[in-house]
Amino acid sequence: MVEEYPRNLTELEAKFGTEEACRAYLARLRWPDGFRCPRCGGKRSWPVRAVLLECAGCGCQTSVTAGTIFQDTRTPLPIWFRAMWWVTTQKNGASALGLQRVLGLRKYETAWTMLHKLRRAMVRPGRDLLTGRIEVDESYVGGEEKGLPGRLNLKKALVVVAAQEDGPGIGRIRMRQVIDASAESLMPFLRDSVQPGSVVHTDGWLGYLPVERNGYQHEVTFLKGKKKTPSELMPRVHRVFSLLKRWLLGTHQGAVSQKHLDYYLDEFTFRFNRRRSRSRGKLFFRLAQQAVAIDPVPYDRIVHPTPAKAKPQYVGVT
Ligand SMILES: [Zn+2]
Repeated sequence: MVEEYPRNLTELEAKFGTEEACRAYLARLRWPDGFRCPRCGGKRSWPVRAVLLECAGCGCQTSVTAGTIFQDTRTPLPIWFRAMWWVTTQKNGASALGLQRVLGLRKYETAWTMLHKLRRAMVRPGRDLLTGRIEVDESYVGGEEKGLPGRLNLKKALVVVAAQEDGPGIGRIRMRQVIDASAESLMPFLRDSVQPGSVVHTDGWLGYLPVERNGYQHEVTFLKGKKKTPSELMPRVHRVFSLLKRWLLGTHQGAVSQKHLDYYLDEFTFRFNRRRSRSRGKLFFRLAQQAVAIDPVPYDRIVHPTPAKAKPQYVGVT
């Protein structure tokens, strides 16, 4: 499908003011080559009671929002579209409180749940691995942050970051919360994030000992006896950590709990990796596209996320 998106708030409101217009847009994103029955793959359908589509082949009824993050929502789609707009067009995103205010929502929980559902759509399934030269380091996030105002309402959590080198700057990043800095925690992150054959640049920590065995070239900078500080030796990763902490403290006022931290990391990554995108509308398009491509998340799984994500599965060689 051609990349179709509003260029500003006026266009958004003009184009997506009604439920029907939003549904038609989501249908173009979800079925770029026309309707496909989720059960039999049939291509012909007819509308039933405004929002349903009945497959001409097998008779099953579906809707464009069934099986997406919009499934079973009681919030009108034009409100969802505005939420996606605020999340993608504000440089630092939106907090639940900010979103509640700007959308005029009666309940804080509605804004909070919408944001969490949207964060689930910020990670593209099967996204590309980082390639080239990659800095990798881990750091604690939470508690009192030195040099930053305020305090994160979060017990200290260990986060590992991989940052692609782009000359002196930073290319794309990946990050994950890990239970500790052992090889068993760090290597699965590396395998999920970095293309084999890439150069992985770390400090001399033992947890990075098996980097070469996992198919990478390993460049080690030992900190001991060096005059330089870690932030000078791993400047990119430390820049990312500093921006992440500022964002958690600023936009979210430090109100992030450990069990939800992973999803905030996903949002930060989504925004960071697209920070040079000149068109904010394009981010809106990407988010909407991914929102109809992923499975729905029931409310109780958002409030109580499964620990599977926080604790990576230990498979294969470490
Ligand atoms: Zn069918």
